[in-house]
Amino acid sequence: MQNRLFPCLLASAISITWTFAAEPVITKEVREESGKKVDYLFIDGTKVHETDPEKQPFPPIVEPKPYDEAAAKAPADAMVLFDGSDASLKNWTSGGGKPTKWTLVDGALESVKGGGYAESVDSFGSCKLHIEFATPAKPKGNGQGRGNSGVFLMGEYEVQVLDSYGNTTYPDGQCGALYGRSKPIVNASRKPGEWQTYDITFHRPLFDESGKVTRKAKFHIVHNGWVIQDNVELTGGTGWNGPHSVSEYKKHGDTGPLKMQDHGNPVRFRNIWIQKIED
Ligand code: MG
Repeated sequence: MQNRLFPCLLASAISITWTFAAEPVITKEVREESGKKVDYLFIDGTKVHETDPEKQPFPPIVEPKPYDEAAAKAPADAMVLFDGSDASLKNWTSGGGKPTKWTLVDGALESVKGGGYAESVDSFGSCKLHIEFATPAKPKGNGQGRGNSGVFLMGEYEVQVLDSYGNTTYPDGQCGALYGRSKPIVNASRKPGEWQTYDITFHRPLFDESGKVTRKAKFHIVHNGWVIQDNVELTGGTGWNGPHSVSEYKKHGDTGPLKMQDHGNPVRFRNIWIQKIED
């Protein structure tokens, strides 16, 4: 009897340990600061937008891999959203069916300060996305103010675009971060003005009738040839919600537009294509 029970207990102990390890611990706090209430969010004990490298070490800097021409080419079943042509500008809007205010510069789609987000006319759910970007060749500003844009899957979940070449900020807000939720594994950023690639595999979140998330979104991201998010389950939303917190999941439809952020810096995008995949 004892012999039979022991492996059984051991198996349950292993399974319990695994469950706790896989599920991140999210805690919230409201702190009083200079007479104001400030929200704090902690993921596995690390404060969102933590700037202390002791508590939130910077991802190691690596040499970006050479541009892979073959991998950047749109497969036959992909929908090309931008190929540098005037015609592909029609795939983008500033919302509400209005033409995008972003401009075509040297075959690239460039953000215009105050022009709002560039939003795809078509909507997508789970997908594979290839997108290339370049932060301004002459960098201006620091931290979040330098070469900031973003790629928003379903118009909701931001993969940060930032000039993170010799520019430090909180790691969960640097280039390749799932904003406020997951810092990149490595910093594979190229120099300002150079073309960089994101290859993103995204599985959309699912919600029940009451609006509760029943399956979280999942991201796998390759930046300039390096895996920077390895099948990461997104613990919540990515909207800036204050200095130390980000938004929560909020129920939405099965598809949403791809969006690129206007954060006031003229960031360029090119060679954008997308493939629908199984949920
Ligand atoms: Mg951004």
